[in-house]
Amino acid sequence: MAQFDNTPNGYDEKNSKRDIPEGAKVTRFAPSPTGYMHVGNLRTALYTFLTAKQGDGVFILRIEDTDQCRKVDGAVDVIYKTLSETGLLWDEGPDKPGSVGPYVQSERMGIFKAWAEKLVAEGKAYYCFCTEERLEKMREEQVASGMAVGSYDRHCRDLSKEEIEKNLKNGVPYVIRQKMPLEGKTSFDDLIYGHIEVDNRELEDQVLLKSDGMPTYNFANVVDDHLMGITHVLRGNEYLSSTPKYNLLYESFGWTPPTYIHCPPVMKDAHQKLSKRNGDASYQDLIAKGYLSEAVLNYLLLLGWSPEGEKEIFSLSEMIESWDPARISKSPAIFDPLKLRHINFEYIKALSPEEFLEKAKAVIGGELLSEIRDLPLLCKNLQPRTEVLGEINEQIAFIKTLPDYDTELFCNKKMKTDPETAKEALGILLPILESIEPWTPDAIFAACAEKAAELEMKNGKLLYPLGIALAGTRSTPGGGTDLAVILGREKTIERIKSALEKLN
Ligand code: GLU
Repeated sequence: MAQFDNTPNGYDEKNSKRDIPEGAKVTRFAPSPTGYMHVGNLRTALYTFLTAKQGDGVFILRIEDTDQCRKVDGAVDVIYKTLSETGLLWDEGPDKPGSVGPYVQSERMGIFKAWAEKLVAEGKAYYCFCTEERLEKMREEQVASGMAVGSYDRHCRDLSKEEIEKNLKNGVPYVIRQKMPLEGKTSFDDLIYGHIEVDNRELEDQVLLKSDGMPTYNFANVVDDHLMGITHVLRGNEYLSSTPKYNLLYESFGWTPPTYIHCPPVMKDAHQKLSKRNGDASYQDLIAKGYLSEAVLNYLLLLGWSPEGEKEIFSLSEMIESWDPARISKSPAIFDPLKLRHINFEYIKALSPEEFLEKAKAVIGGELLSEIRDLPLLCKNLQPRTEVLGEINEQIAFIKTLPDYDTELFCNKKMKTDPETAKEALGILLPILESIEPWTPDAIFAACAEKAAELEMKNGKLLYPLGIALAGTRSTPGGGTDLAVILGREKTIERIKSALEKLN
């Protein structure tokens, strides 16, 4: 496909239209490469993806890397990796050029000057030759007179033609500022926040083009969105207050503004935003802790959006089917770690035994793995008890090191056991376990049950103490016979003997 001509002269509204079905949406996810994918950003990516995919739309990835101070090496790869892992695949992006590239903002820098000049020529923007010193002085005076600080005083707004030409001829550095209307109101409709109206008097004549010829973010994102044919802009609501200025730019160019969909922030609690500092804020942190990427995505879907019914677990295609951006909530979304755990648990339960085993193996790792005599059996017991993969090692730490437990643990009202009955039970079990063949859960269980029947006691009375003796803790992934097989005969005998010593 021919590269799109991004200059005002080359730009032809009709030719820029992509070959997409009538009414389909074009959206973009425009992250800044900061080395880290905040869950709030990933949620925006998801909502942006879903909005495009609901029809036969186009989902664009645009890297907004013009703030060089925030740029981090390898950060673009984090973005690619996160979106790929979660299945939010982009139709066009830096690595998948379409007709409206480039898709990296820093590579688009040549585009903006001509567009800003076009606005100057039409009287909708102006050259500002104010020096940094003058602006500083202006700010000081504003402070001294008790005015709000910061707004440019429009000193260059009405310079004469001659003065402007003279300055340009003499190479006086300039910025280009947007000429805001001095009266009236500007309004726009946001799909979530409704009708928003501001007094034009409140809007600063903001800089569009800096003295080095580079655009400000506020200018670049509007021009980029338009040239890329974006029909629906989804982003964090921190951009809500800038949107009137963006809207005026669309108006100045005679362009149709996109549908705005601003999403509320993701909060840690009622007062604080979820931030990098509190560990759980990034996608990578959650994956490292053992959350499944599908579960994280599913949780983020529900973090600030509610489906029509009670359904909670959604595959990506079900998300697309059920998506309605109008159902995004207006109030801040509070990140709920318990709900995330619950959803993760559902996804872990739904894994096939083989998938779970592979994931568990990766978490358990080398040394401990070599001490597990029957990994599939351990995994069968772990899977229904695991909410977060990263917690597996805690659950099975007893395999390597038997905790120094108290004999009180042998007390169980329901099983009618206590240290006394445990001593008796373990004494009965020891010779059976020393000789039983084959060493399988069924054979061990059958032999124990046979013995219990012979002695006219309940199975639990024999087997409960076995579990405690083998794990030294009450909560174990499996009952006594399974634990015996997982630990192997040698360790089992050793641990029964050590329990008997404790009980003597
Ligand atoms: N680069 C901006 C950010 O990461 C995106 C703003 C937008 O989507 O318009 O916050």
